[in-house]
Amino acid sequence: MMIPYKHEPFTDFSAEENKKAYLEGLKLVESYLGQDYNLVIGGECISTEDKIVSVNPSNKEEVIGRVSKANRELAEKAMQVADETFNTWRKVKPEVRADILFRAAAIIRRRKHEFSALLTKEAGKPWNEADADTAEAIDFIEYYARQMLNLKDGMPVESRPGEFNRYSYIPLGVGIIISPWNFPFAIMAGTTIAAIVTGNTVLLKPASTTPVVAAKFVEVMEEAGLPKGVLNFVPGSGAEVGDYLVDHPRTRFISFTGSRDVGTRIYERASKVNEGQIWLKRVIAEMGGKDTIVVDKDADLELAAQSIVKSAFGFSGQKCSACSRAVIVEDVYDKVLNRAVELTKELTVGDTADQSYFMGPVIDQAAFDKIMSYVEIGKEEGKLVAGGEGDSSKGFFIQPTIIADLDPKARLMQEEIFGPVVGFTKAKDFEHAIEIANNTDYGLTGAVLTNNRDHIEKAREDFHVGNLYFNRGCTGAIVGYQPFGGFNMSGTDSKAGGPDYLLLHLQAKTTSETL
Ligand code: NAD
Repeated sequence: MMIPYKHEPFTDFSAEENKKAYLEGLKLVESYLGQDYNLVIGGECISTEDKIVSVNPSNKEEVIGRVSKANRELAEKAMQVADETFNTWRKVKPEVRADILFRAAAIIRRRKHEFSALLTKEAGKPWNEADADTAEAIDFIEYYARQMLNLKDGMPVESRPGEFNRYSYIPLGVGIIISPWNFPFAIMAGTTIAAIVTGNTVLLKPASTTPVVAAKFVEVMEEAGLPKGVLNFVPGSGAEVGDYLVDHPRTRFISFTGSRDVGTRIYERASKVNEGQIWLKRVIAEMGGKDTIVVDKDADLELAAQSIVKSAFGFSGQKCSACSRAVIVEDVYDKVLNRAVELTKELTVGDTADQSYFMGPVIDQAAFDKIMSYVEIGKEEGKLVAGGEGDSSKGFFIQPTIIADLDPKARLMQEEIFGPVVGFTKAKDFEHAIEIANNTDYGLTGAVLTNNRDHIEKAREDFHVGNLYFNRGCTGAIVGYQPFGGFNMSGTDSKAGGPDYLLLHLQAKTTSETL
């Protein structure tokens, strides 16, 4: 009997042995910093002259690794290998595919703190955030393996006398996996694994700021026994390799997680039927958010302030689920704002290899510049009440920032900033607060703090987001418990880590036999 799915527990770093294990992970990662990593195409390791140089955002001088970079020619080679391998991989039994995943999860679990430490180094994640990213990667693998076993016999359909009907799921073909840097392990691994366990072959193009953790994951999959050519590793420029693969006539589907602009571009390009193409491509796109926490007048105000601060500034606000807007009913606005400012001023920012810092850097110079420009816009549009400073001399550090008294339609309240900046606005009453919460193009996450049962029910119906939380923050969805994905411009309405996610990578076939 298989052990039922249960999410990976988070590590308690106040325990001495866990702290020690993490520090050992850091030491191990430090011993291999600066190494070269290859492309992997059909099991063949290919090194290129041109390299992506991955650096530590806490210390830009520190090189995490140099990763070979695919060009169009290599992307084409990988496509041919994946296309060919699909003919064999699609016939491998779902049980066998799932077994490879179970083994991969076990390998990662054994190397858990090494992977988390690598996330600290490559993405600037504080220990607890890195630990959650690794745990989520393990969860996706464990969960999707079990989901595949549930789907392997298809779904029941009726048969008439003298007839036997079946409804089975078969894979699609070659998938292009394009992943972001902010969950460089969990989302990269989750989207890849979902495509593979369903019998597809893939080309994985990770984000260029975090390719080393992806290279390490590819090694794990090989060790777990994944046949050559199923997972092909092609890091490279989004514009060059990305566009080429999205346009390719043999691409059957694209699984993208990232910004709205790139997602929209992929969706549009994928809709064009190119020469030699005999299907309409499927696109799974998980995009940005402008996520709101609503605080009602009848709420636990301390919990509200804590939830806003934690959701806004965890991992420097670089989560698609991060709280970037707080909408507070006017009766309690000052109280919640003042407490949030107090809590924010207590937060510490620094190199997260040191456990004591709450918040680390933002990912790179471009992100730093963009976020700082929004802080300037914020000062014009509202009132800066906490933070506002940045320093990119060594790493890309920005103080957690609160801008108060914003108009709900202000740019700060509408555009995704993707950094440690949260805007506050006042609502006349609860109804008005929900109206404001819904007034963006996005619909990813949201939270409502209230002790009013009618208001909970109203929000459940009217607050239009894919993930809605009550009396807590709006980040931290867990695979298999809170399937994750948003509405409107937040994506294609899919739910990662949910019971129907794998179906997006499959097509149903009906067979009817006359007996
Ligand atoms: P991004 O869009 O800049 O990059 C994502 C990926 O797309 C990278 O691998 C990049 O190299 C690639 N890419 C860039 N141009 C491309 C092109 N023309 N063709 C194909 N691929 C191309 O996003 P990012 O900065 O890595 O991630 C942050 C964004 O991701 C935020 O907007 C965030 O909200 C979003 N996000 C959403 C979810 C979700 O589940 N909805 C989860 C995490 C992140």
